[in-house]
Amino acid sequence: MQNVEAINPGYPLFNSDEYQQAFARKHVFEEAPPKEKLEEVFQWTTTEAYKELNFQRQALTINPAKACQPLGAVLCALGFYKTLPYVHGSQGCVAYFRTYFNRHFREPIATVSDSMTEDAAVFGGQKNMFEGLENSLTLYQPEMIAVSTTCMAEVIGDDLNAFINNAKKDGRVPMEFPTPFAHTPSFVGSHTTGWDNMLEGVLRYFTLNKMEGKTVGSNGKLNIVTGFETYLGNLRVIKRMLKEMDVDYTFLSDPEEILDTPTDGEFRMYAGGTRIEEVQDAPNAIDTCCCNRGI
Ligand code: SF4
Repeated sequence: MQNVEAINPGYPLFNSDEYQQAFARKHVFEEAPPKEKLEEVFQWTTTEAYKELNFQRQALTINPAKACQPLGAVLCALGFYKTLPYVHGSQGCVAYFRTYFNRHFREPIATVSDSMTEDAAVFGGQKNMFEGLENSLTLYQPEMIAVSTTCMAEVIGDDLNAFINNAKKDGRVPMEFPTPFAHTPSFVGSHTTGWDNMLEGVLRYFTLNKMEGKTVGSNGKLNIVTGFETYLGNLRVIKRMLKEMDVDYTFLSDPEEILDTPTDGEFRMYAGGTRIEEVQDAPNAIDTCCCNRGI
């Protein structure tokens, strides 16, 4: 069908005799309606009668794309400076999150899992977390590890707060090392809930019981909660508009850089993102807006 001397792109190729004959055979095989019938139905969809029928609908089912909570939590965690997303639970789930983001952003996604298996499902995943946190810190040297969970850890009721504190007491990670966490069971909510839970986890970690000396409006900034936003261009447009309006801001999770690193052959495990000091300073902002919800 193709010839090296003259390679046809799709449209002329599909109009060639061979393709046209193949399409005709496919029509017969599929018992497709004749062209006249298709045209008749198409014309009917342009009539007032069809419009009336459409407007008589009483119910509508909307079935939006729905992914799971830890996927959202990973995206949120990626938006913080030198932060390693850590998922407590099964390895396959995390392979799915990485693949999902790899395909969308065309970027390597640094996210670790503590790979719970059958024994952890019976005895709990604390042992996995001890080793996982220690290895993550040693190998990848992040400045923050943001922990979320898969269904497996949630079904057996693993307690992240207890496990992380025990890991610190056991000397696996320094006591003061930042380890915000969020329980992200996927049998409730969706990727957007998971994103929100992770942000709440980060904000709680850095601001709960640490509000002394904070005054609303004192830093003159606006907090922007970016939400589960996978179109990085939107983040850039918001930044540009804020700059043009001379508005100082803090993005609460800013994955714009890490998810769009240059293709120059150098792997960047961490790039850009909201810094811990900015999170600690967030309560001093004038106000907080959720940019993907119009609030
Ligand atoms: S098992 Fe749960 S956490 Fe894992 S991919 Fe499925 S829904 Fe997500």
